[in-house]
Amino acid sequence: MSAPAGRRARLRAAWNMANLSTPLGLLVAALTGTRVVRGPEGLLLGFGYRPRLPRAGAFTVGNVVLFRAGPDDVAARPRLLAHESRHASQYALCLGLPFLPLYGAAAGWSVLRCGHPAPHNPFEVRAGLADGGYRVRPRRRRKRTRP
Ligand SMILES: [Zn+2]
Repeated sequence: MSAPAGRRARLRAAWNMANLSTPLGLLVAALTGTRVVRGPEGLLLGFGYRPRLPRAGAFTVGNVVLFRAGPDDVAARPRLLAHESRHASQYALCLGLPFLPLYGAAAGWSVLRCGHPAPHNPFEVRAGLADGGYRVRPRRRRKRTRP
């Protein structure tokens, strides 16, 4: 990691701690019994997240990334970690907790458009759909059959 990137990561970590998004992530981890360890870029990584919601293999709250998988599976998927790191930056840009309702609205918009919370969700698009494990498939227009 270059020095400027390291400095940015430290600033992001400090800002997401101050704006309470990382403390919320740590609270979620504590309440769900998810073990958290220090990761790259100032991220905190939790493995073995068990609750049913949210229905995702990984999700990020502040600088805390919670994975259902264990450390070995996550290490084998560096692009997923890069995707979740971009979400941590999005928390920082949204001043922390406002990310959550903004993300919810964006996911709802995407569901309305295509029935899935990611493809038309600008937060997921900017974080990289393919990196997040979303299958990116261009929408096909249905041919209408005449009655
Ligand atoms: Zn994502």
